[in-house]
Amino acid sequence: MRFKHSGACHCGAIGVALSTDLAAHEIAPRACGCDFCLKHRPNWFSDRSGHLTIIHSITPNRYRFGTQTADFLICPNCGVVVAAVCESDGEALGVFNLNCLEANHDWSQRAVSVDFDGEDTGDRLARRAANWMPVALKDAD
Ligand SMILES: [Zn+2]
Repeated sequence: MRFKHSGACHCGAIGVALSTDLAAHEIAPRACGCDFCLKHRPNWFSDRSGHLTIIHSITPNRYRFGTQTADFLICPNCGVVVAAVCESDGEALGVFNLNCLEANHDWSQRAVSVDFDGEDTGDRLARRAANWMPVALKDAD
């Protein structure tokens, strides 16, 4: 069964629509231990066989750090970090912040702590190619 989950940043300018085979209670958030994520505390999620659409009425700010291989998409109005996106073999892949989902009370599993500090750039890109999900960015009309 295909599930649709939707949500947005705090002000609503950047919406997210997730399509996945996972029900909300099966969604396991990841808490990344990098110094950017420790400041924002996003609960990351991706499903390689799912799909994410980001619908924005304001163009998200893009922030890069570290290996400079992913863009963190931040709402310029409310400051919520909504997603991170990268390109992998011509495919746009991403992870998003579950805190943006309207049904966020349904994913009650505790976040799994992850720390990718020791990864080199090649390992990082390979991990994203295997785990991040296809993402499309759209202008809201
Ligand atoms: Zn916002």
